Amino acid sequence: MSYEASKIRLVMELRRQGITDQRVLGALERVPRELFVPEALRSEAYDNIPLPISQGQTISQPFIVAYMTQELQVGERSRVLEVGTGSGYQAAVLARLCRRVCTIERYRSLLAEAEARFRELNLHNITTRLGDGGKGWPELAPFERIMVTAAAEEVPLTLVEQLAEGGVMVLPIGGPGVQTLYRITRGPDGVAQEALLDVRFVPLVDGLPRGRD
Ligand code: SAH
Repeated sequence: MSYEASKIRLVMELRRQGITDQRVLGALERVPRELFVPEALRSEAYDNIPLPISQGQTISQPFIVAYMTQELQVGERSRVLEVGTGSGYQAAVLARLCRRVCTIERYRSLLAEAEARFRELNLHNITTRLGDGGKGWPELAPFERIMVTAAAEEVPLTLVEQLAEGGVMVLPIGGPGVQTLYRITRGPDGVAQEALLDVRFVPLVDGLPRGRD
């Protein structure tokens, strides 16, 4: 099956799974997932499954990308912080929906590959940084939206502090195995927390990897 045909099939499946936001579905249609997966796995690019990328990391299942994007409620004017660039796929989807995406990755090699994809796709509204995303990006804070695509054991307070008032953060919380996806909203009277879904993510790891990557 061609990429186009399998992409249409995937979008129909996402609709059945409850992705109703037309802007989100449109963004997934416009980002070529085959460019974000290892070449040997390109025939599976539009299967609704996570796939391995290098450094033992994963590109999330399309349903999870769509769901997290939908629940983040991004607006055209939003500035979004993403923690865990990985392949760059989620950042590319967000970049189609908002003003600017600031994305942080701790592996230099993954970040370089993602940056090359952003250039190839002319996605000029993505700013990247090599670093520990658990510390956020204080120079650019506050963010209207924050999405974390690696699982922390507890909500990182540094990230909550970098959320603008009225801001929304979507992130998986929990230990190895199954975690819970939460939506955190920062209102005038404090922070509200809502459990959304059981998910499986690679862990959020402190600091930078040792040696070359
Ligand atoms: N959003 C990615 C999915 C990435 S998997 C995509 O669309 O492909 C999670 C990523 O988070 C991995 O690349 C991992 O290296 C990264 N990561 C884990 N802990 C991190 C941290 N503290 N800071 C930045 N990136 C981190």
